[in-house]
Amino acid sequence: MTNLLYQTDSYLKEFDAQVVGQDLENHGVILDHTAFYPGGGGQPGDTGSFQTNKTEYLVIKVKRIGDQVVHFLSNDTPLPEIGSQLRGRLNWERRYQLMRTHTAMHILCGVIFRDYGASVTGGDMDPLQGRMDFEFETMHKDLVQTIENAVNQEIANAREVRVAILPRQEAFKIPDLIRTKINLLPEGIQQVRVVEIVGLDLQADGGTHVKNSVEVGHIRVVDYKSKGKINKRIYVEVLD
Ligand SMILES: [Zn+2]
Repeated sequence: MTNLLYQTDSYLKEFDAQVVGQDLENHGVILDHTAFYPGGGGQPGDTGSFQTNKTEYLVIKVKRIGDQVVHFLSNDTPLPEIGSQLRGRLNWERRYQLMRTHTAMHILCGVIFRDYGASVTGGDMDPLQGRMDFEFETMHKDLVQTIENAVNQEIANAREVRVAILPRQEAFKIPDLIRTKINLLPEGIQQVRVVEIVGLDLQADGGTHVKNSVEVGHIRVVDYKSKGKINKRIYVEVLD
């Protein structure tokens, strides 16, 4: 199993690793550890590069396949051999934008649950833009403006963002986690990673986040639409 460095240090931009496996079908490699996020929970996977003493490889996509994290490499270089040592580098600008966006999405969830009791039903994001679906009966311009203001207030409140990895039984005792459907976690998962925006939001989450809400910058709700009677979608842009 690959040691997933991003789970405990989302600010790691470079790391040394060894190739422990190849995925010939996808022109990819598996490492002993990685800082590349493989995607999940709405956050896209990272891109970047690997450097050995001879060759530079472009990492064009990272994906979890079964219980492996596979780094897909550009086809113009042959795969590095098993046992090769390399230095991995994230495309940090893109990753940091995704961290800001992901944390912004959790602040939005936290505000909407706190102020309206509405749960999130889905979401997706790209660098500096995201969308989320909430169990809302109505959505209108004034409400959207109120939500935007409340989210920007929480960003400005400089709330700390904490990440912890808890034993399953302990995580199940946290009431806030129940609403984010922690009970849907497969039986086999013995540890639960939780992301807390202190005083606002707590979720079981695998993604990478900034360490303080102020790093988000600010958000703008750019659009909203109805996706059903009790499902409304909100589109958000993240700005400096
Ligand atoms: Zn998340």
